[in-house]
Amino acid sequence: MTARHDAALLFAFRSPRPACIVPVLALLTLAVASPSRADPPPAGPGEPFANRDTAYQARQGKPPEATPAGFRVDQSYKDPDMVQDLLAAYAQRFPDISRLVELGRTAQGRPILALKISDAPDRDEDEPAVLLIGGNHGGELLSIEFVIDAIQVLLERYETDKNTRRWVDGFEIWCVPQANPDGTWAFLHVSDQMDRKNARDTNGNGRIDPTDGVDLNRNYPFRWGQGGPTASSDTPESNYYRGPAPASEAETQAVMRLAESERFVVALSFHTQATSLLVPYTIDGTRSPQPNEAWVLAQEIAPELPVQPNGRRLRVRRQIYPVDGTDQDWMRAALGTVAYIVEGTYESPLDAGRRKASIASIRPLWMAILDRYLRGPTVFGRVTDSQGRPTAAEIVVLGTRRFQGERWSARCRDGRFDRFLPRPGKVTIEARQGGRVLARRSAQAVVGAPVRLDLTVPDDATTESGCPVDGLASRECARAAAQGTCLRPGPAP
Ligand SMILES: [Zn+2]
Repeated sequence: MTARHDAALLFAFRSPRPACIVPVLALLTLAVASPSRADPPPAGPGEPFANRDTAYQARQGKPPEATPAGFRVDQSYKDPDMVQDLLAAYAQRFPDISRLVELGRTAQGRPILALKISDAPDRDEDEPAVLLIGGNHGGELLSIEFVIDAIQVLLERYETDKNTRRWVDGFEIWCVPQANPDGTWAFLHVSDQMDRKNARDTNGNGRIDPTDGVDLNRNYPFRWGQGGPTASSDTPESNYYRGPAPASEAETQAVMRLAESERFVVALSFHTQATSLLVPYTIDGTRSPQPNEAWVLAQEIAPELPVQPNGRRLRVRRQIYPVDGTDQDWMRAALGTVAYIVEGTYESPLDAGRRKASIASIRPLWMAILDRYLRGPTVFGRVTDSQGRPTAAEIVVLGTRRFQGERWSARCRDGRFDRFLPRPGKVTIEARQGGRVLARRSAQAVVGAPVRLDLTVPDDATTESGCPVDGLASRECARAAAQGTCLRPGPAP
């Protein structure tokens, strides 16, 4: 992997950042020597994070350390090479329940990697899909560890723990620990001021400057750039730069393709350090569906989670500060996913005890959400015609009001849909196409188990693409639909 360290760097200098404050940037130019290991780094702001992380220095470049159960994952933070090696090692050691999938490549050529965890990882199963994703902001190293910890638990406890087996057998769990590998590399090896963006050479000068890059969590196409100057920035040097166009970044496109293909019932995007559970829609003035099952679930689950190591519980809220173009709002608006941002505690602490305590206290969250799906009230099913051919029709839970033109479809490849329900009681599902009701069924949704409602639609109902509405779909989804095929996870064809 190459990262260019040898340039005179333009530093964005700013005071230490509470998570909730948009930093005021004061720019100054500094010439620095190459921050190689032999060459001590300059003191002060802009030092590569790796230079003060001795645990990382001790592990960098080394292969994962095998244990009787799997691998050690708790020795240090991980750069993109280490994450790649670890995921490959896990996939090799647990081939019956995991598969390594490349979702795309970054501007600097690094793979964006997922580990799919399921009891039949090479097959598409009739199961709900779940996303655990970290490292959207390159400097939030702990968020990467939250996902790696989930991988370790799911794979290493599968043989011995009944609950883990239930999750792995019952779901298709997509783990993307490092959504922004170039950004993490830059934070570790160029400047710790590069704690957020993707380090793409946005000023086009052929090198990586600390002001380069796009904030991936402002780059998604739902309400992109519509929240005003405090929600995201059109200034490329800003740490909150939203990019030149919606979904302009390779990392954004890779996640969109995966989400469009898999139709996650729930997605957890891990961040640090605001000790919060952020519920869509997070954009000011954007009204959520009513009832809002995403909010109801968060309020159910948060009080049951352990107190975080800073003495606080995860606080359920819409946002920490004004935002737009976030991944969670796009997943919600485009696909109906219950998409949370999970803000853990502490920002890249060097103390191993703090790191482990924070990871351990986030772990029960994803477990609680998987259990909530399995316990219900939840409804799922498949939409097919009388020949059993899947149809990606629009799926509507009657009684839910929507205000953003949301149109949530069944999964293209198998017609499957999954919906959390806010409360038990009668649930009616409709399959629709262009406003026409193709099929309708009702059942009693209960606490105890998900309720299945398969829908059969007329054979003359033309196959729908299942792509999100115009403006929210990836280019590849639209292309696959035009060809009459379903989008699959992986690099752009
Ligand atoms: Zn973040």
